[in-house]
Amino acid sequence: MGDGLISAISPVFIGSEIYRFSTYGPSHPLAVPRVSTCIDLCRALGWLTPDKYRDAPMATLPEILRFHDAGYVAALQRAEAAGAVTPEDRDRYRIGTDNNPVYPEMFRRPATSAGGVLLATRLTAAGGVAHVPGGGTHHGRPDRASGFCYLNDCVLGILSWLDQGLTRVLYLDLDAHHGDGVQDAFSGDPRVLTVSIHEEDRWPNTGRLDDRAGGSARNLPVPRGYNDSESRYLLTQAVLPLVARFRPQAILMQCGADALEEDPLARLSLSNNAYWAAVAAVMPLAPRLILAGGGGYNPYTVGRCWAGIWATLNGFPIPQTLPAEAQTVLRRLVYNRAAGRNPPAHWTTTLRDAPREGPVRDEIRRIADVTLQEN
Ligand SMILES: [Zn+2]
Repeated sequence: MGDGLISAISPVFIGSEIYRFSTYGPSHPLAVPRVSTCIDLCRALGWLTPDKYRDAPMATLPEILRFHDAGYVAALQRAEAAGAVTPEDRDRYRIGTDNNPVYPEMFRRPATSAGGVLLATRLTAAGGVAHVPGGGTHHGRPDRASGFCYLNDCVLGILSWLDQGLTRVLYLDLDAHHGDGVQDAFSGDPRVLTVSIHEEDRWPNTGRLDDRAGGSARNLPVPRGYNDSESRYLLTQAVLPLVARFRPQAILMQCGADALEEDPLARLSLSNNAYWAAVAAVMPLAPRLILAGGGGYNPYTVGRCWAGIWATLNGFPIPQTLPAEAQTVLRRLVYNRAAGRNPPAHWTTTLRDAPREGPVRDEIRRIADVTLQEN
């Protein structure tokens, strides 16, 4: 019996311990533990028995070079080994900058994220569901780092599915930032449809409503304060009809958690219910589904959101109040922002946020209309 058959029976969680202590530096938004928080929460809730968990291998060099330039990958490895970057490499490859700093695992960590997503594509080759919260580095470019992303595990995963012979792969990106690296990698490729919902007028300032990347992309730039009602509207009135029309054989869903209300880097106002509803709605639409992480810079809200995604994939009921062991996972978090010094009670006692419903603004209705217009 192959891996594919086993994975088709029940979702697989692909994680790694590399994320537990690896940080981009104390003042970087990625100073916070996210994947390990999700893993610890799922284990404390009894949701992650050893049979469901797979350790992500590092992607091999040939696997990474399927998308990335050899000179850039060599520079990443050099910088990790030296713990420093030459001015030449910094300028050419954008590493050793404030956003994309030199840090001790700066090659191994992204290579592990890529290896995790690639393992997920193999485990789902014959159908199945995988959760890879360490994946989702959607800004990575072939020859440079961008927006905290050194490699692009999303692109590598989609390429792997295409190399298996699939001809209709959907990429759905819920991160608060535009999934520019993935869109550009498949621009004009009819085998891939990239759909990104992101905050308008926010870095990288691409992904405008009329940007369709030669027919292979849809972009849904949403205004500040984007709420659960608006998320449900776009899901039912734009995303689901679009997906039904495309009939994907496989879906890679990037669930960057920075569109949550409490995230420090964006100004969107979702509760984690919106993410879980999107996952539940998308899950039946293709025989292969990979859930990746992405952004998300408040460790409490990211960990709770991604643990709830795992519960959604498995149909586990989410308790009203977290058991003591799960609360302990959250109470031990260190978050060096004002909100972290005195976290609100629900950040440590619950998994599910209170819903953040609100009016569906005209801009949102227009986005749905435009999204469904034929080219
Ligand atoms: Zn983001």
